[in-house]
Amino acid sequence: MRDLYADIDYVLLSTEQIRSRTAEMAEELAQAYQDSEEVMFLCVLKGGYVFMSDLSRACKFPHTIEFMAVSSYGDATHSSGAVQILLDLQKDISNRDVLIIEDIVDTGLTLSYMRDNLLARQPKSLRICSLLSKPSRHKVDVPIDFLGFEVPDEFVVGYGLDFAQIYRNFPFIAVLKPEVFGG
Ligand code: 5GP
Repeated sequence: MRDLYADIDYVLLSTEQIRSRTAEMAEELAQAYQDSEEVMFLCVLKGGYVFMSDLSRACKFPHTIEFMAVSSYGDATHSSGAVQILLDLQKDISNRDVLIIEDIVDTGLTLSYMRDNLLARQPKSLRICSLLSKPSRHKVDVPIDFLGFEVPDEFVVGYGLDFAQIYRNFPFIAVLKPEVFGG
């Protein structure tokens, strides 16, 4: 089998940078939710699963874990703009403090759609926590309450983020060599 690491052009965010920022974010969350009894972490699949797992383990306050899957890029590197819920949340969120956990905000279309959809279910509060954001690509204004890192307009992989469903396992965020996208 081929070595996936041979496809890396460069590492944008190292494992240590992500670990240390995640610990800081856990502190920010603890502060923000100090008056809450319990928070519902709502992980956006698939990309959010690694961040969710590490963030959750860095948090010492009570929280539950739920999942939602929405359509994103398919196998290409550009968004179609259309958003579809593939797996919906089964739990009632009325009167709950809900925190959406996302891997990356690119155009913001996915989160904007999810936000409106979830707000209609009348949670007590709804906040957004994203590991990455590409500010230069935002098309709609979504309030990111907790953000790990701003990144340049590069297609990134690793730490849950894929290209053609692979590379999610990299324990860092990387940019792939241009030839990987070629064929
Ligand atoms: P948006 O709706 O904000 O344009 O896109 C959100 C989704 O697109 C993310 O949850 C992610 O799945 C995908 N996406 C956006 N930018 C990137 C990127 O640089 N790399 C990868 N792997 N996925 C991305």
